[in-house]
Amino acid sequence: MSLGAHMSVSGGFAEAFARGEAIGCKTMQIFVTNPNRWQASPLTDEEVALFREAASASPIRPVVAHDMYLINLCSPDDALWEKSLRAFQDELERADRLGCCCVVMHPGAHMGAGEEAGLQRLVDALDRLRDATSDLRVKVALETTAGQGTNIGYRFEHLAEVIARVHDNRWLSICLDTCHVFAAGYELRTAEGYAETWRQFDEILGLGRLQVIHMNDAKSDLGSHVDRHAHIGEGKLGMAAFRQIVNDPQLAHLPMILETPQMNDLDIAKRNLDALRGLIEDEE
Ligand SMILES: [Zn+2]
Ligand SMILES: [Zn+2]
Repeated sequence: MSLGAHMSVSGGFAEAFARGEAIGCKTMQIFVTNPNRWQASPLTDEEVALFREAASASPIRPVVAHDMYLINLCSPDDALWEKSLRAFQDELERADRLGCCCVVMHPGAHMGAGEEAGLQRLVDALDRLRDATSDLRVKVALETTAGQGTNIGYRFEHLAEVIARVHDNRWLSICLDTCHVFAAGYELRTAEGYAETWRQFDEILGLGRLQVIHMNDAKSDLGSHVDRHAHIGEGKLGMAAFRQIVNDPQLAHLPMILETPQMNDLDIAKRNLDALRGLIEDEE
């Protein structure tokens, strides 16, 4: 069971390990660029060396990267799409140098062009990115979304379509976010709903494609399409959903990562982590 949280890299990328270890993370997620700015300062060889040194001395693995918020690989606007491509290529190169297993990415928003147009835009972007970075080992984990606004990725079928259309889908995996899928309309609280959601996931995407789970409670209701994360046990999902996830033998090998509010406050992050740990029934 690998439980962890999104950790700040303030003060240097390697600092995330000390933070994660202080609260008992077994895995973690980081931003490898500034999440709210297009231009990131170049990653130096020294930063990479420090990070890799800290990684090899740490029990935390894998380290997952998350892309920044401005990127939209579904955009119908050519200038924004090209800008997003360049920024995402930078994300991939940085994450690969740091030894991250994957870059979790939000598929993007079609901005009124329609879901089909948005999906094809993303497929074209991924094909170009794959050609430009075929020497890298890092994977791209497509994240399930809540379907807020014109965001695609709120149906498992959307992600399956992307995987089916790209030239090389071996580098694509899936990140399932509990808050997002619930807001998108997938039940996780009841035993029947939980089983049905995973049955659909396995049928449409295949459980083997799943690489990361984001563990977030939801402030918004089932099917609301509103993406608002809550602390574990304090949202509409509640403990019942998370108890099923942390005790599910099908998911036991996966990194499960918190992205609950105020994650920069380590006490709050630890409280959420403790809430999850407390649900594990057979801890060996
Ligand atoms: Zn997420
Ligand atoms: Zn979210």
